[in-house]
Amino acid sequence: MENVEFTYECVTHSPEETRKLGRRLGKFLKPGAVVGLWGDLGAGKTVMIKGICEGLGVEIEDVTSPSFTVMNMYQGKVPVFHFDFYRVEGFEDVMEFGIEEYFYGEGISLIEWPERIEAYLPKDLIPIHIHRLKPEHRSGENDRYISIGNLTPSVLSALKKEGGR
Ligand code: ADP
Ligand code: MG
Repeated sequence: MENVEFTYECVTHSPEETRKLGRRLGKFLKPGAVVGLWGDLGAGKTVMIKGICEGLGVEIEDVTSPSFTVMNMYQGKVPVFHFDFYRVEGFEDVMEFGIEEYFYGEGISLIEWPERIEAYLPKDLIPIHIHRLKPEHRSGENDRYISIGNLTPSVLSALKKEGGR
């Protein structure tokens, strides 16, 4: 994902804060949006997705990382596809799955481990990176540096304006 400008950046200090950020972002996502979440195991990708789903009107109890399937589908104001490609090995699996139909339809796709399917990611993907801060930079174990790129100017300013905890 070269040449992507990460236009929104912040540090969250708890899972609730990350989820709230997700919820705010979710409210602005348009049908057909594809969101990719980069970050190590335990970074907070699923936490963020729970928030995004909440913002999209999904019953939040339904949202868990798809561990035995590649995708979970939820019903929000539009269909929401939650992918986790952690265990995906070959591209054949992905092609067989017919991923493009999800990415280029009217639903909203939320992808954990998008780096596993890099070649198939759409150009207008919204990238979210979540990192634990290095010990010397953080005040607590729960600090996460989060950046969100490829936002439209209006969504970006709305996110900034609503800011706050
Ligand atoms: P991933 O999907 O990236 O593997 P999860 O979202 O499943 O990670 O888990 C993140 C874990 O980190 C949860 O146990 C959560 O409570 C914890 N956590 C601590 N601080 C934060 C934070 N600021 N944001 C998100 N999760 C956090
Ligand atoms: Mg996860």
